[in-house]
Amino acid sequence: SNNTDFLLSIENLSVSFDGFKAVNDLNLYVDENEIHVIIGPNGAGKTTVLDLICGRTKATDGSIKFHNKELTSMKEHQIVRQGVGRKFQNPSIYEDLTVLENLEISFPRGRNVFGALTFKRDGQVIDRIQEIAEMVFLNTVLDKQAALLSHGQKQWLEIGMLLIQDPELMMLDEPVAGMSVSERQQTAKLLNEITKGRSVLVVEHDMKFVEDIAHRVTVLHQGKILSEGSMAKVQADPAVIDVYLGH
Ligand code: ADP
Repeated sequence: SNNTDFLLSIENLSVSFDGFKAVNDLNLYVDENEIHVIIGPNGAGKTTVLDLICGRTKATDGSIKFHNKELTSMKEHQIVRQGVGRKFQNPSIYEDLTVLENLEISFPRGRNVFGALTFKRDGQVIDRIQEIAEMVFLNTVLDKQAALLSHGQKQWLEIGMLLIQDPELMMLDEPVAGMSVSERQQTAKLLNEITKGRSVLVVEHDMKFVEDIAHRVTVLHQGKILSEGSMAKVQADPAVIDVYLGH
């Protein structure tokens, strides 16, 4: 197939830290409306791949194309503007503000006809915030101070803050770490909901959760792809079993 059909095309991507290749000649593709999960043992290079895509880490070699636009030469804020959003493991929410205020300040500020930055709290903005608050299960706690939310709710709030910006590709680093079973189930539902019209690239350790959400799985090992395909396929791959269970 033609690689320009993918939303995200990573080709021959490498990064070295003091001569150590954390990502080694990687090819990875993300389709539209796909939940693509990267798994692999600690130190495999999973987080580094997300760092490279969002521009936090600069590639030593290779290409990252989003909608056929090269990202490797762009700065982090430019990459965000292309429609690539990233959630880190620790939520970067404003603890002193309410849930509603956190969502409001995440709303992209447009420019009016005079070129000035605008932040209109109009009906459309309110509707969108309401819709997203419902999606992330926080519509009943809009006036609550973010600091008082449960761990899971804080994770959802940050996903909501990303959704407000409407990224086409959303990257999540261990979104269900520390969540209860029911919170994990709700998060799976949430991810299925948000891939209508966008793609999600997830780094995850919780295999039950990966089974629930992944359309496609890439197994990384020592900066390279060990296996790729459906969760059922990679779980049955002897190379994967070998790496996870040891010798
Ligand atoms: P994973 O997310 O799969 O656990 P990482 O991407 O965090 O793996 O790390 C891959 C390897 O790269 C590790 O050996 C890690 O120590 C190394 N690494 C990651 N980032 C840096 C950095 N900024 N400087 C030096 N080494 C790094």
